[in-house]
This record gives sequence, C-alpha cells and structure tokens, in this order.
Amino acid sequence: MKKIAVFTSGGDSPGMNACVRAVVRTAIFKGLEVYGIYRGYEGMIDGEIKRLQSHSVSNIVQRGGTVLKSARSMEFKTPEGRKKAYDNLIAHGIEGLVAIGGDGTFTGAKLFFEEYGIPTIGCPGTIDNDLYGTDYTIGFDTAVNTALEAIDKIRDTAAAHDRIFFIEVMGRDAGFIAVESGIGGGAEFVMVPETKTNLDDVVKSLKNLRKTKSSSIIVVAEGDEAGNAQTVMEKVKAKLNDPTKDFKVTTLGHIQRGGNPTARDRVLASRCGMSAVEGLLAGHQFHMAGVVNQQVVFTPFADCIGKTKHLIEDHLKLMKILSI
Ligand code: ATP
Repeated sequence: MKKIAVFTSGGDSPGMNACVRAVVRTAIFKGLEVYGIYRGYEGMIDGEIKRLQSHSVSNIVQRGGTVLKSARSMEFKTPEGRKKAYDNLIAHGIEGLVAIGGDGTFTGAKLFFEEYGIPTIGCPGTIDNDLYGTDYTIGFDTAVNTALEAIDKIRDTAAAHDRIFFIEVMGRDAGFIAVESGIGGGAEFVMVPETKTNLDDVVKSLKNLRKTKSSSIIVVAEGDEAGNAQTVMEKVKAKLNDPTKDFKVTTLGHIQRGGNPTARDRVLASRCGMSAVEGLLAGHQFHMAGVVNQQVVFTPFADCIGKTKHLIEDHLKLMKILSI
C-alpha cells in the first residue's frame, strides 16, 4: 500500500482534527502518500481530493470541528454515487481509506468495501459515544465537559430562584452524555432513551426533594422516549401541579459539538489515527480502531454498527444513590 486517504463524515466532533493529524503524520512517517478527502462521502463523489503534507496538519490538534469539513451525503447511499466515488479514488491511485465518523459513516464504509474492496479503517468520531468496540468515542469527553460547564452555571441560577430546570443534552439514541454530565453536575434526575422514564416517579421524588432541596436539575437526553426537555417539563409541571414552583428549560444544542478538544479526546484521537494507518498496513480491511481497557482493538464494522453499547450499570446506580 502506497497511497491512502482520510476523510471525516457525519456529525463533526471535537478531536476529529487531532485524528486527521495523526493519520497524516503516521502515514508520512511510514513512507506513504496521504490524501485528504473534503466533505466526507460527498467530496469523494465530487472528487475533492488533495495531497496532504506534514505541514498541512500543523496547528490543528487543538481545534474543534474538522479542517476536512464534513457532510451528510444522500448520493453515497445510491450505487451510482458509490461508483463515482470509487472512480475518483482509483483515478488518484488510492488503495486504503481512513474514515472518521459514526455508525452511519461505518455503514457506508462497510457497503463500499463489500462492493469495491478498498480496505477501510474507521476511527470513532462522534460525540454520542454510541459505538461498540471502543470505551469512548472521539469528542465525547469534550461534549460532556461542555454540558457540565453549562449545568454548573444553570445550577447557580436555579439555586438563586428555587427553580426546577430541565436541561436537554444531545443523544438521539444514546444517553451517555446525559448520564456523565448528570453525575458530574449533581443532577437530581437523568432521562435517557435506554431506560423507560416513569414521570410519576419523577414527580414523587421532586415532592420528596422539596423537603431537602429548593432547586432541581433534570438532564434530558434529546431522544428520551418521554419526549424532549420541553415536553417532559410540561408533563411534569402538570402532574406536580404546584403553582409556587418555577420551571425552566434549557436546550444546550450544538454548543456541545464545538470547542477545543479536551486532553483525553486529543490523546484518544491521536491513538486511533495512528492505529488506523498501522491497521491498514497490517492488513485490516473493514475494521474500526478503538480503545478498550487502554488497549487499541480492531472491531469489524458489522459489530460496531450491529452491536449495542450499553450504558454502564454503575452509572445509573450512582445517579439514583447520589441524588437523594
Ligand atoms: P453521527 O453519529 O455523528 O451522526 P454518522 O457517521 O452516524 O455520525 P450519518 O449522517 O448517519 O453520520 O452518516 C454519515 C454518512 O454516511 C451519510 O451522510 C451517508 O453518506 C453515509 N451512510 C450512512 N448510511 C449509509 C448507508 N446505509 N449506505 C451508504 N452510505 C451510508
């Protein structure tokens, strides 16, 4: 293998740049030519492919977002789109790919490998932490810390006015951000898509908490089955039926995607990026490079996409015990 390309795809996450940098520098260190594909699969189809040098990735390790840009490509979901992408890679002589993204990105990568046989290693770039095959994903730690900073600030105003705050964090299908920011921020409740939320229990506990605490923070993952933070707040407010209580909703939104990556994310991203190139050279063909128990592991895309990563049971227990 002499020429490889790297791209970022799907939702951006802080640390993607550190990963791109690690891929580029490791490839050059190993004597490979390395190319950047801009705007993910969309750029692969449109031929936005440029040779990268070591200096191309200078001064990006600390930056959020992705210098390679990201996109969601409908065309790549069609056989015609993937054929165009393949033709562009062949025109550049590219023999291996590093895909930085989430489960959608790896679903596309798996299909593309099955059709055209270009070896592809994935790096887990998503704030959601919902990928099997790695303890943490690149960007998760930064997103949790961003949410935590906001929760700390909201706690001040909640306490000053004896308010009940519903804070919505990202997580359409996974509650990892909600649980870790909830534990770190001392939330009274966390609502996540993985577990059924019983609003009567929430109301009962809020009534009990009134005896010991004047303010409460409830962290809601956007994909909770009981609804988003606004919906849940309205339901709880109606059930609690206490006109003396002031309810507020804050949706953190895209702020959780941005910002300088934490040290933990930069190190994880760098490890995954380096390992992706080493994995390609070692003959891995359709795997994600992740870190499990401090060790780099290569997990087939089929498992990363098909197997569910469960919330840590102890975390749920912690929430329950520490919120009394
Ligand atoms: P995040 O978890 O942050 O949203 P992601 O990688 O899951 O990241 P998606 O938008 O789901 O983000 O997927 C990224 C891209 O992967 C899509 O825009 C599409 O081009 C490609 N992709 C996803 N699913 C498929 C599929 N079934 N077939 C081909 N390509 C796909």
